[in-house]
Amino acid sequence: MTEATVQQLRETVAALHTELVRYRLVAWTSGNISARVPGTSLMVIKPSGVGYSELTPTAMVVCDFDGELVEGDFAPSSDAATHGYVYRAMAHVGGVVHTHSTYATAWSARAEPIPCVLTAQADEFGGEIPVGPFALIGGEAIGKGIVDTLSQHRSPAVLMRNHGVFTIGRDARAAVKAAVMCEDVARTVHLARALGEPVAIDPSDVDALYERYQNVYGQPAAPPRQ
Ligand SMILES: [Zn+2]
Repeated sequence: MTEATVQQLRETVAALHTELVRYRLVAWTSGNISARVPGTSLMVIKPSGVGYSELTPTAMVVCDFDGELVEGDFAPSSDAATHGYVYRAMAHVGGVVHTHSTYATAWSARAEPIPCVLTAQADEFGGEIPVGPFALIGGEAIGKGIVDTLSQHRSPAVLMRNHGVFTIGRDARAAVKAAVMCEDVARTVHLARALGEPVAIDPSDVDALYERYQNVYGQPAAPPRQ
């Protein structure tokens, strides 16, 4: 790993944590973001138990995919091994986010997938936002549940049962976007359901929306952003 790359990722990951606060996805010290260090078996991740206002680039830690500290002044997030499991199993993933964001976690508490009833959801998630299995913190069960569930869906977000949200992306910023959009969709569909039965989008239309958004939408030749 190059020091310059790690320093850049420390800055990116630290800055992205402010987005979790801005979008009200986290309470106290819960929630975490990591980024794969390209070409290595390492990641940059939030330290454990440090307040959001103290999450500077130097407070971020580097650890391996077992969640063991490699470089840094703090212990890694208690979810570090889970992030590492995802990086090990999914080579295309460059960023992982975990939150207990309110509406999405309420769906997870009911073990209920969020049905695809919004065009923005079809765009971003390509269908329902699925539920993953219940798993206790500490073992590999959470990581395995995330990977098994996401491997069967186009969604970059999974609602882990009775727990919260894990999202993936090609980089950390994309994973944060998925976390923000997941909570937005969870809130809107919750409100829709409170007053009636939301109308499903035809699967062929979901496919068309997803295809357009993933491949055509946005600025032409936009450079990848962290
Ligand atoms: Zn959690």
